[in-house]
Amino acid sequence: MDRNCIFCKIIDRQIPSNVVLEDETAIAIRDVNPQAPTHILIMPKNHIANITQAENAETLGSLFMKVGEIARLEKLEKGFRTVVNTGDDGGQTVDHLHIHVIGGRQLHWPPG
Ligand code: 5GP
Ligand code: ZN
Repeated sequence: MDRNCIFCKIIDRQIPSNVVLEDETAIAIRDVNPQAPTHILIMPKNHIANITQAENAETLGSLFMKVGEIARLEKLEKGFRTVVNTGDDGGQTVDHLHIHVIGGRQLHWPPG
């Protein structure tokens, strides 16, 4: 756990959140500032700063396997978007790896 990381504090239940899914290695929570009717963040319980810092395929693989589960739970059969922002240029604001799952409305492309 990184003491300065807001997502680590959420995982540790020091900060409340709306949990959608949880197992030994990962947690999915509702984004506090949703950009669409469904906006969920899937993250590993271990602190990993961003996608470039992931140390093995298993970590990333099991995280991405949660996407389909979330889509089914949230009934996103019309589609959705997965986003992983990385670093300043990527618009990452919390340095704890997370996958955004955004859906429930027509999304536009390209992103800004
Ligand atoms: P990023 O910009 O790093 O890709 O995404 C960070 C996301 O975390 C943002 O969409 C932001 O709304 C969300 N977020 C920031 N702080 C909190 C929080 O305390 N609780 C929850 N549930 N989401 C948060
Ligand atoms: Zn963290």
